[in-house]
Amino acid sequence: MDQQFLHCAVPLSPAVDARIPVLHKIDLIVVRLPFVKPFATSVHTWAVKEALLLRLESDGVVGWGECVADPDPFYASETTQTVRHIFKEFLLPQLKPGLTIGELLASWSPVRGHGMAKAMVENALLDLIARQQNRPLHALLGLSARRIQSGISLGIQESIPALLDAVADAMRRPYHRVKLKIMQGKDVAWVRAVREAFPDLCLMADANGDYRLEHAPILRELDAFNLTMVEQPLSYSDIVQHAVLQAGLATPLCLDESIHDLDDARSALALKACGVINIKQGRVGGMIESLRIAALCQHAGVDVWSGGMDETGIGRAFNLQLQTASGFTLPGDTSETARYFSEDIVDQAVVLADDGFIALPEGPGIGVTVLEDRVARYTLERESIP
Ligand SMILES: [Mg+2]
Repeated sequence: MDQQFLHCAVPLSPAVDARIPVLHKIDLIVVRLPFVKPFATSVHTWAVKEALLLRLESDGVVGWGECVADPDPFYASETTQTVRHIFKEFLLPQLKPGLTIGELLASWSPVRGHGMAKAMVENALLDLIARQQNRPLHALLGLSARRIQSGISLGIQESIPALLDAVADAMRRPYHRVKLKIMQGKDVAWVRAVREAFPDLCLMADANGDYRLEHAPILRELDAFNLTMVEQPLSYSDIVQHAVLQAGLATPLCLDESIHDLDDARSALALKACGVINIKQGRVGGMIESLRIAALCQHAGVDVWSGGMDETGIGRAFNLQLQTASGFTLPGDTSETARYFSEDIVDQAVVLADDGFIALPEGPGIGVTVLEDRVARYTLERESIP
């Protein structure tokens, strides 16, 4: 075990010193946007995006947070209903004007887990504060603007020819990397077919925890295809068995579901359980914890990238802002809005430039403007908190 990663100090974003303004209006809004195409993984197929949004208003300025929890517990244990409960009963009571963001996060420390609920609130506050200061969120976080690499995540397809078509389509855009979802029975032959058709493609596979250690021989076959990584092959809650698997694989493993916070990342690095970490800011408790994980990984020489949760334009904008941090060396899951939604709830869709990069939206806060009439059009439920 490499114990240095258990003890090394990691910096805090300067955003922890920002103060919470007086909040005049707090709304929880559930929107439901149909996906252009259903998205299939080894655990579930989603046909619509149902997202819980937090709208905070202070002196006419509005900040938005998007929770990445699904209505179901198939990707993660948190759901939109658990988030609503944790927010109202345990997070909201600590939301006091004048507290710094750092003090707020410290006041939440007795709440174990629930990173998706915490991230939703932190996101909305950071967006609100940055908009009040009329500067972009990355500046509030102490980061500098840059163009963002793109990546596409292809759900499990009906057949190998359909998969090859989907990859060819992605290459025409052109994305910087392609991720294939895999599952037992749709793995080695499928990856081989893509690699043979696209020998130079930056390619990776994501199993969403569909394998067990006894499947190591199958996963070792993937070493033949020059994958940049294999993501989360084993259980969503495991780190140790990934370390055992990694010791026998040439391809770097990437942990996604197993990383809930900085401590999980420390354990994974110390145990050499992975060569890459997928940081989903909406899952690990927000932007500030994400930046700490990225700083730790940079110190360890481990690449990180920003994972997507098929977010609306709000969550997608947070992911873009996060990727201005220097540790985000690999292309993430940020792809074009049009792949997911025919109509989004923000004014700027994510679009790739000819070289595959994504321009950072330039407005204050998360950079995009939320279109309240569109939000209303897709609203299932709206609750104003007194
Ligand atoms: Mg994943």
